[in-house]
Amino acid sequence: MDIILFGPPGAGKGTQAGLLQQRLGLLPISTGALLRARAAISDELGQELEAIISRGELVPDGMTVGILRERLNEDDCARGVIFDGFPRTQQQAEILDEMLADMDRPLRAVVHMQVNDDILIDRISGRFSCAQCGQTYHDRLMPTKVAGVCDSCGSDKFTRRSDDNPDTMRVRLAAFNQQTRPLLAYYENSGLLKTIDGLASVEEVTRQLMQAIDVKTC
Ligand code: AMP
Repeated sequence: MDIILFGPPGAGKGTQAGLLQQRLGLLPISTGALLRARAAISDELGQELEAIISRGELVPDGMTVGILRERLNEDDCARGVIFDGFPRTQQQAEILDEMLADMDRPLRAVVHMQVNDDILIDRISGRFSCAQCGQTYHDRLMPTKVAGVCDSCGSDKFTRRSDDNPDTMRVRLAAFNQQTRPLLAYYENSGLLKTIDGLASVEEVTRQLMQAIDVKTC
């Protein structure tokens, strides 16, 4: 079973993908994480990616799809994946449909985590993650239980993404509204779209998400 978590940056897709992985055993695939990992290799392509990501713009479809296709062909994706941050353009959505059809695993659900733009800058600005295990936190909304210590692995090293700042966030939100939001109509037309309240508590969002997926899979 493959599902898409759809929503703007800061909607909580990464958090929910991790929780869904625990419950359903599906593998979260974040194209943002894949692209950041590629950008960390400081060759010409890496530097180009780093520049695009730090400006908050979308990486061209060809590069993004190439990286995703490679990942999706790995064995650990065979049971199904949760797409986090992909697709983000009409062309990506169409290519994803083709890729999944070729693999004989049509998409089962697209869950739209609905949120208001005005809370997103605040949510994103407080975001940080453990440098060792990648567990994500938020200064105010989801702090570590013990200050300065990762709940999951005990590390005291944390990182903040360079694109998680108010200026870049405005560009990312504009990209979402102009290039990605129109996909809602695409998935509405294919009958796959479920909308849930992304502003509810983490537990409540998970509950609604499970319900949305059950409706599609039972
Ligand atoms: P995210 O981690 O999903 O917030 O993505 C971080 C950044 O990676 C985005 O602002 C884009 O620059 C790039 N990115 C991630 N996914 C995509 C995608 N599907 N298409 C184009 N660019 C992407």
